[in-house]
Amino acid sequence: MSLTIAVIAHDTSKPVLVEWIGRHIEVLRPHLLLATGTTGARIRERYPELRVEAVLSGPLGGDQQIGARVAEGRVDAIVFLFDPLWAQPHEPDVRALIRIATLRDVPIAVNPATAELLAAALPAMAAAKEATAGGIAAPPAQDSAARGAAGPQTA
Ligand code: PGA
Repeated sequence: MSLTIAVIAHDTSKPVLVEWIGRHIEVLRPHLLLATGTTGARIRERYPELRVEAVLSGPLGGDQQIGARVAEGRVDAIVFLFDPLWAQPHEPDVRALIRIATLRDVPIAVNPATAELLAAALPAMAAAKEATAGGIAAPPAQDSAARGAAGPQTA
């Protein structure tokens, strides 16, 4: 079954992401790549045969758009190659995306080594999704209801 794989790279990491896609193109071909604007444009330019959906550019809200999809349970995996050496104007959005991926337990690769592991796991993930017939869990509405009933939590 087709997976939705979010792919985001900050400028210094875009060549690394494009190269990763090229190396794993056969594994990625059946899946939808959900990309931030500039990352998506680079991928389409280089691999026009792939299915790419591009949202806004990251600094203009693209990370938040992808984060919303993660919250809705509509993203199966994320490759997010952020730049560890430069501060970004949209740093809060970067953190928010990593946080929501953690909350929803969506695999997120934030460096090339983990992206390799993720690529190797994609066929098994697609088979597991097929087996559960679209088996992405619903958003944790019951969890928040339970928390609301128990009153606000303190950190
Ligand atoms: P971009 O955004 O693909 O539009 O460059 C990536 C990001 O900065 O999050």
